[in-house]
Amino acid sequence: TPDIRPLVAGNWKMNGTRENLDQIKAIAEGLGPDLADGIDALICPPATLLYVATAIAEQTPLSIGAQDCHDQQSGAYTGDISAEMIADCLGEYALVGHSERRTLHGEDNETVRAKAEAAKRAGLVRVICIGETESERKSGDTLKVLGAQLSGSVPDGATAADTVIAYEPVWAIGTGLTPTVDDVAEAHAFIRSEMKSRFAGEGASMRLLYGGSVKPGNAAELLGVAHVDGALIGGASLKADDFLAICKACR
Ligand code: PEP
Repeated sequence: TPDIRPLVAGNWKMNGTRENLDQIKAIAEGLGPDLADGIDALICPPATLLYVATAIAEQTPLSIGAQDCHDQQSGAYTGDISAEMIADCLGEYALVGHSERRTLHGEDNETVRAKAEAAKRAGLVRVICIGETESERKSGDTLKVLGAQLSGSVPDGATAADTVIAYEPVWAIGTGLTPTVDDVAEAHAFIRSEMKSRFAGEGASMRLLYGGSVKPGNAAELLGVAHVDGALIGGASLKADDFLAICKACR
């Protein structure tokens, strides 16, 4: 198995105003040489803070990304932002297909794939999010759902450098609930085998993140599971101390 550099990513969702920029600064400064040697760290603030956040993180190990992007480069798409605009703000990553986008904005796999293609076109790394709902898990359909989301949302030609997969069980997001380590292991082994069969060596070294109620207290256990190459963190990424503690647990 290849040596994979972990990624710890924070998703601020619709939280954060200028006064929270001190947390970005604290994270950027807290990623001392020790920590930054072993992992990549990413914060995705709301779009309103993107440009100022990249200025704060410049010359530090911290990367900044967006939470979504439109598939078109520009045009009559009121309220949307393009991958090129994110790159113009010096963002390096875009999340696509977060469950809140899929559910609250009706994004299907085809939409997510188009956004993922746009991110790559603009030179961004795309973090493609997938995950089953509670009822899908209860009916035993988890792997079937994940397989369909992967084949529908991940574009052809994906590489380990331009693509990250985040497995986030919908029922674990923001709830404090987490799957058992065996369930995480099963899902991640399945995702790895799907990515390997489609992308060969690139799939073998693609980063697979776990997301859903990751906290400083459970991070080491979840990040210790085979084929878990980092975490996507919502609530606990808003506080620099919590985010940095998770980064430490990832080393
Ligand atoms: C998320 O929004 O991607 C997430 C995992 O949220 P939380 O960590 O708050 O469950």
